[in-house]
Amino acid sequence: MSFKSLGLSEPLLKAISKKGYETPSPIQAKAIPPVLEGKDVLASAQTGTGKTAGFTLPMLHHLSKGPEQRHRPVRALILTPTRELAAQVHANVKEYSEFLNIRSAVIFGGVNQKPQVAKIRQGIDVLVATPGRLIDLENQGLLSLKRVEIFVLDEADRMLDMGFLRDIERIMKLIPNKRQNLMFSATFSKDIKKLAYSILNNPVQVEA
Ligand code: AMP
Repeated sequence: MSFKSLGLSEPLLKAISKKGYETPSPIQAKAIPPVLEGKDVLASAQTGTGKTAGFTLPMLHHLSKGPEQRHRPVRALILTPTRELAAQVHANVKEYSEFLNIRSAVIFGGVNQKPQVAKIRQGIDVLVATPGRLIDLENQGLLSLKRVEIFVLDEADRMLDMGFLRDIERIMKLIPNKRQNLMFSATFSKDIKKLAYSILNNPVQVEA
């Protein structure tokens, strides 16, 4: 199994080899093909399994194949429970998109919103965010999520543990109904299954 055989484009393969990855991890081998096919995916994966690349690589593949966007609306939204995770996922997005014409930004609370807003204003394709700051900026009219095509919920179980259910529900109302959804969780409680049922559309289920 190779990254190339999964069908990822050359600029992504170049970024992958720059990172020093030789073969896809199990979760990557299982998740990348259905995401590339445009399907919703529900993945059971812990941190450390390579799950971030599992959703980021096929997401970037899609975005780079789309038509050139002049105004660069946010086309992919990745929600994470903590700012540390948001920053880490964004760092990955930046590395993997090095050879693509894709722009990204990260937003989270607890810091001045100005630099984040300035970055969004320049136009971005991929937004990594924690729920509170995302809702805050949207409420202020500083951000539109009406053109989101791909929605990723990372570490969904931690999201619920941290009390973000209401925020997630609000955010779902801000993005289009027609979209691709990817949800990652380390555990699968009844509440997680319920959330998955409400967000995902006929998902392919994969396990690390
Ligand atoms: P994650 O589970 O996404 O937090 O990734 C855990 C670590 O594995 C990160 O440091 C990644 O850079 C690394 N990683 C991800 N995919 C691969 C791969 N296919 N081969 C080697 N390392 C990887």
